[in-house]
Amino acid sequence: MGEDAEKLKQRLPLLDYLRQQSWTARPIAFGPEFVGLCPLHPETRPSFYVNAHKNLFYCHGCGQGGDLIRFVQLSRHLSFRQSVAYLEQQSILPTDSAAVLERAATFYQQQLERYPEALRYLQQRGLRDPALIKELRIGYAPGASLRRHLTVQGYSFDLLQRLGLLNPQGCDAFYRRVIFPCCQGGRIVNLYGRGIAAAFAHRFLPGSKGGLFAWESVRQFPTVILVEGLFDLVVLWQAGFRHTTCSLGTHLNAEQFQQLCDRPRIVYLTFDVDANGSGQQASQQLAQRLRAQGIITRRVLLPDGHDPNSFFVQGGDARQFQSLLEAAQT
Ligand SMILES: [Zn+2]
Repeated sequence: MGEDAEKLKQRLPLLDYLRQQSWTARPIAFGPEFVGLCPLHPETRPSFYVNAHKNLFYCHGCGQGGDLIRFVQLSRHLSFRQSVAYLEQQSILPTDSAAVLERAATFYQQQLERYPEALRYLQQRGLRDPALIKELRIGYAPGASLRRHLTVQGYSFDLLQRLGLLNPQGCDAFYRRVIFPCCQGGRIVNLYGRGIAAAFAHRFLPGSKGGLFAWESVRQFPTVILVEGLFDLVVLWQAGFRHTTCSLGTHLNAEQFQQLCDRPRIVYLTFDVDANGSGQQASQQLAQRLRAQGIITRRVLLPDGHDPNSFFVQGGDARQFQSLLEAAQT
């Protein structure tokens, strides 16, 4: 039981779980801590703190604190054993669910060709190589047709809703989004959807985003480029930098951090250079944590206001990016 509980907590980070439960929080400075209203009691001023590295919470309002399982015990009034069982159900995708994600991904992939606006969007983001689009199984969710497609194949409405493919109203949760399947150990663990219109740009299915993107192919390299977005990764892969992986955000979960540290290597941190400096702050902090684990880090400084994607979209080429790597600071 003890070991199961540990694995469970790794698979389903506390912060991810809370966000699934619609907990909204803001990061404190640029550290691993987040604060928001306590979900355990009514309050108007946020006193509920979560440390995403330690995977622990503490509330200064009610004095409760602990790990994910403790939180479930308190919020759902369950015993330790019941909480573990409840979380197992929440976090393990049963085999049939893995199959559903597979079918959903295939469906989205088939839609891509049929919607010029989706292909246009990929082109705008600098992705032109059809072989790479196919390799990464990039698709498009036009909205309002996945449900029919999957229920006809015998998948229950309830399962589709539990997986987050349908929203509570029964509509496709991914609507007008370019879809990237996130795979681990040869199976899809989540889907990332990038809205092609401006609103609500990023969306995942509930549950963990999984490890680093394409880590199984990237981990063999002694030198790795880490970016925060998938459109950063695609332009770099297209330009020949196949040793690029992506953390899907500037906050690495525990698994992603461990993956980067699984052997001695050099990591080039290539986060966005945004106006408020948050990307660079996150990158400095991560560099410190990696160095503490014996990993050599270099911070790649893109021109002001750029991310790797915009760098290539606005005419940057492989040679220029290579010079940025060579100029990267320790
Ligand atoms: Zn509280």
